[in-house]
Amino acid sequence: MIEKLDVLKARRAVFSGRVWKIIVESQGNSWETWIVYGPKMKTCHIVVPGKHCDCLDFLFNVIIRRKKCACYHIIAQKMAEAQGKYQTVVLKEEDFVEVLITQKLKGNITIWSMPRQRLQP
Ligand SMILES: [Zn+2]
Repeated sequence: MIEKLDVLKARRAVFSGRVWKIIVESQGNSWETWIVYGPKMKTCHIVVPGKHCDCLDFLFNVIIRRKKCACYHIIAQKMAEAQGKYQTVVLKEEDFVEVLITQKLKGNITIWSMPRQRLQP
């Protein structure tokens, strides 16, 4: 189930350019990850498309209570990718690691266990 309020919040995030695709370059290869910033750009959440987000809403309402199948960050990532409305940032692996550690130290990132449900297409 997807909540209306989450769809609205997701639309706002996409519209205000808070969905970023991070391309991480590592030893001649690259891989990508997604970040959705909060309304004030102070917090950010790492989104594994359709599968995972590190926010509390995802932990409580998706993993524990199973009330819904996605938080608004996951919906925002999906919308942004579908509409091509996201910012692309290319980072070297060491810089990405630095970003992760900085955010982790600020308490903005927590990796929860993987959920059993998946976002329906
Ligand atoms: Zn989330």
